[in-house]
Amino acid sequence: MKKTLFFLLLMAAVLSSCDTINNLAGSEIANVITENVTEQITMRTNADPDAVAAAASSLASALTISNNEIIALCEEHMMEMDTTNIILPDDDPYTERLGRVMSRFKNLGSMRLNYAVYDDESTVNAFASGDGSVRVYSGLMDLMDDDELFAVIGHELGHLNNHDVRDAYRTAYLVVAARYGIASFGERANAISMGFLGDLSDELANNAYSRHQENKADEAAYRFCIANNVDPYAMYHALEKLDSVSDNQAGKKSGFANMFSSHPDTMKRIKHIKEMAEKDGHILDE
Ligand SMILES: [Zn+2]
Repeated sequence: MKKTLFFLLLMAAVLSSCDTINNLAGSEIANVITENVTEQITMRTNADPDAVAAAASSLASALTISNNEIIALCEEHMMEMDTTNIILPDDDPYTERLGRVMSRFKNLGSMRLNYAVYDDESTVNAFASGDGSVRVYSGLMDLMDDDELFAVIGHELGHLNNHDVRDAYRTAYLVVAARYGIASFGERANAISMGFLGDLSDELANNAYSRHQENKADEAAYRFCIANNVDPYAMYHALEKLDSVSDNQAGKKSGFANMFSSHPDTMKRIKHIKEMAEKDGHILDE
């Protein structure tokens, strides 16, 4: 038993420095945890590889999380986010503007969307959580016109619709749960008072979506604009503006993956949208 606890602690340390699992779908993570952890712990401790593998395997399977549990986790995380940020009131010009721009989009499939603006002019970011919460920082709204704001939110809803959000929460949860030695979803209740949700925020902020996920979300934003008579180049212009914003402005303090930091891939994403629009006969008016 003592040995298992020792392995658990080591696994948590190894996992928090393990980049590989951040790029995987949830179903693949358990295998990678088992293989990676076994290899690294055996290497570091000269422990019996079979014993390590058995402990790693039981931890990995105990750490699985269902889709319904992810939604519950998103609700808890959003309560934390909405407490640590200042939400602008309903009659604030920012909130009214966001409500006007997104007035037709109250639902995504069967999911009810709820919108709010965080009062933070130094953060240029927006995100959608798996419980239907859409949060936009006032710094992003300062930078964007209405069409661009519509496109950026369309991009975030694209991540939600493509299950990128669910997968990001799953990965972040697995890493943080391992760090806290949580063996079942029910056990997180105790860890929440110890800063579990704050660590989850940090983990979400440190992970970025893949280039493929970003391209798919950009395509969703593009189609979202076309379908709603919004400038087909709105996402293109939004990305150009976001690319000009420095990393520290968009910063990690936003508590969720900063999807728009200056990044070599941003130019490729801009090009991808332009090619898509030109193919459909939309000419860029510069
Ligand atoms: Zn994105």
